[in-house]
Amino acid sequence: MGNTLLEEARRLFGKNIALAEPLSKHCSFGIGGPADLFLSAADIRLLREGLAFCREWSLPYFVLGRGTNVLVPDAGVRGMVICVRAGSVQFDRNRVVAQAGASLQKLARMVAERGLAGMEFAVGIPGSVGGAAIMNAGAHGGWIGEPIEEVRLVETSGGGEVRLGKSDLRFGYRESNLRRFPGIISEVILVLHEDEPQAIKERMDQFLLLRKLSQPIRCRSAGSVFKNVEGQAAGRLIDLAGCKGMRRGGAVVSHKHANFIITSGGATYSDVKALIEDVREKVRAAHGVELELEIIDLGDWA
Ligand SMILES: Cc1cc2nc3c(=O)[nH]c(=O)nc-3n(C[C@H](O)[C@H](O)[C@H](O)COP(=O)(O)OP(=O)(O)OC[C@H]3O[C@@H](n4cnc5c(N)ncnc54)[C@H](O)[C@@H]3O)c2cc1C
Repeated sequence: MGNTLLEEARRLFGKNIALAEPLSKHCSFGIGGPADLFLSAADIRLLREGLAFCREWSLPYFVLGRGTNVLVPDAGVRGMVICVRAGSVQFDRNRVVAQAGASLQKLARMVAERGLAGMEFAVGIPGSVGGAAIMNAGAHGGWIGEPIEEVRLVETSGGGEVRLGKSDLRFGYRESNLRRFPGIISEVILVLHEDEPQAIKERMDQFLLLRKLSQPIRCRSAGSVFKNVEGQAAGRLIDLAGCKGMRRGGAVVSHKHANFIITSGGATYSDVKALIEDVREKVRAAHGVELELEIIDLGDWA
């Protein structure tokens, strides 16, 4: 990367830009090499300016939320990582405008305190609102696509704002058509319904308890590694195939939840990738089923 480009990035973005920033610091797996340029976009203007910079210098870019669903290569990511940190939340009765960088689980608690239901499922999901929207994050029979009324994006090509209403949006199991729109999600608008705050709290406590009992929440992971297959829980298939406790270097298949790979100090991208292939092979042999990744592998993206 040329000196002129780096100087220009420093001049434009000041303390918001970091060079050769280790992505291990920004991902829940805690592994992954450096991003050439790492932009912390604390407001929507910076999203626009980051995209404009990438256009001007023909740089590839990757959008990062809270890094709780990504696997980053040890060699890192070339170009710019734009980390969406803009996270304000505004209420107009039961209509909530959340910037994409807001914490999903904090939002779930904020709306619950106001007696608004529809986000209980999100308690314990550690991502951002933008990451949740694009992945259609969900749990306990709920998913974020349901209460979403509108998604706003900053367009890649011209930096303009695109507004997608309910009729433009499609949400499926851990996917949405938001991936097809070239841009960065800047805001998500949710419409929730009123309920007794105590009843909402009880549902959330119950969900959190279930999570604590069934998931290794204190360990480093990216949540479920594989998608469920035709109604069958991937975790159960992996468990029945005898994969719990399988290890590659610093990566191990959790004993508590077989669909979680947990990483410890010194774990590498190659460890996790090798373990993913080991699990796939065992599940293929045991059940004749091909597991598909739920996590985003930035190695594939690169
Ligand atoms: C302990 C644990 C438990 C989990 N439990 C669940 C669960 O129950 N259900 C569930 O669905 N998930 C779960 N997850 C996975 C993860 O938290 C969700 O998928 C979350 O919504 C991802 O958000 P993020 O901000 O971390 O996204 P990231 O990991 O940063 O990114 C994920 C993808 O979204 C894209 N992206 C992120 N932000 C934007 C944006 N603003 N605009 C455009 N693209 C964007 C990225 O480019 C990437 O492709 C869990 C993870 C962990 C670690």
